[in-house]
Amino acid sequence: MDKIWVNSADSHYLEPPDLWTSNLPKELAELVPRSEKDPDGEWETVHVDGQAFRRKLPTSAAVKFVEDSMKPQGARDPVARLADLDKEGVWAEVMFASLGMWNACFRTRELLRQALRVNNDWTRETFMKASPRFVVTAQIPTLVVEDAIAELQRCAGLGFLVAALPTRPHPSQEDYNHKLWDPFWSAAEEAGMVVSFHIGSDPVDPTRQRYAGLVYRGPGGAVLNYAESTFSGQRVAMKMVVSGALDRHPNLKVLVAEGGASWIPFIGDRMREGYRQHHAAVRPKLSRDPKEILYDQVYTSFQHDESAVASYTAMGYDKVCFGSDYPHMEGTFGHTQQTLAELFENTSESVRYRVTQGAFLELFPGVPPVPADTSVIA
Ligand code: MN
Repeated sequence: MDKIWVNSADSHYLEPPDLWTSNLPKELAELVPRSEKDPDGEWETVHVDGQAFRRKLPTSAAVKFVEDSMKPQGARDPVARLADLDKEGVWAEVMFASLGMWNACFRTRELLRQALRVNNDWTRETFMKASPRFVVTAQIPTLVVEDAIAELQRCAGLGFLVAALPTRPHPSQEDYNHKLWDPFWSAAEEAGMVVSFHIGSDPVDPTRQRYAGLVYRGPGGAVLNYAESTFSGQRVAMKMVVSGALDRHPNLKVLVAEGGASWIPFIGDRMREGYRQHHAAVRPKLSRDPKEILYDQVYTSFQHDESAVASYTAMGYDKVCFGSDYPHMEGTFGHTQQTLAELFENTSESVRYRVTQGAFLELFPGVPPVPADTSVIA
């Protein structure tokens, strides 16, 4: 059977272990996340930006799971990565960070600003210069709006097409539904930069949570935590819509990565109902229906979700993109073609094209499309 070629709106690179320590001034390098293991190997102390917390080290099975997830050489090496993409049938991909996913935990302005700048320079040198198939996200510091605008504009000038913000800024900063973020949305709209939010990147309180993303313990914990991480993407999409941020910036496009797609019709219905039934209390008023704004300006990515294609075919939401989540274990690396074959078994050619390539190209018109003759690739 012919390969199904796809663009991925959710993939990851892995930062080199010394990226920050060798490129930041000493006083800042000391603040980047590091771990000190106890001599008995059972516990460790994690230091993050002057905050420290203790945690029991994961079992060997959990360690292996995380290590396997980071194993592919392509996580850091663009040549190995292109070989993996060709084999999997993935053409272009939006690339998010790994360690940088926790940047909303940083509380020192200068640390966040410089660490993300170093990161963005490294990804540009390593991946963007290697191939236009690598659509690398520019990591944006969100402690101070002026810093966010400055890094967005610097990265737009360097050729980045998409900015990545955590699903919530640090608690010391106002959330994205506040007006003080408006100059940032304007800057993104003017620069033609897509604004992306990868699920599960909310700030973590290191004194209360053992580890980023681990909210639940006990029976069902693994699945509860996995599903819980999704809600952060839904919350930020709602904030962008009902605060009027997207209404005031109709050319701004948002990508919520890795959270599936079928929540969009659901959240759209809830916001439409709330806007209409609670109209007397609603501020600000919007020039368009909230569900319409959500459908128009918010793109999503999914990897295995069986309901994602139906959110387009049955519920009219057409901003659905596939995402391989390479190289993570919850993604499709190693079985992308099998997953795609199952997802599109009973759909038309045009539906398949829309989800595998069309929505992605609408979001990133500057990215080269899959070549007409793919036999030259793999
Ligand atoms: Mn991902």
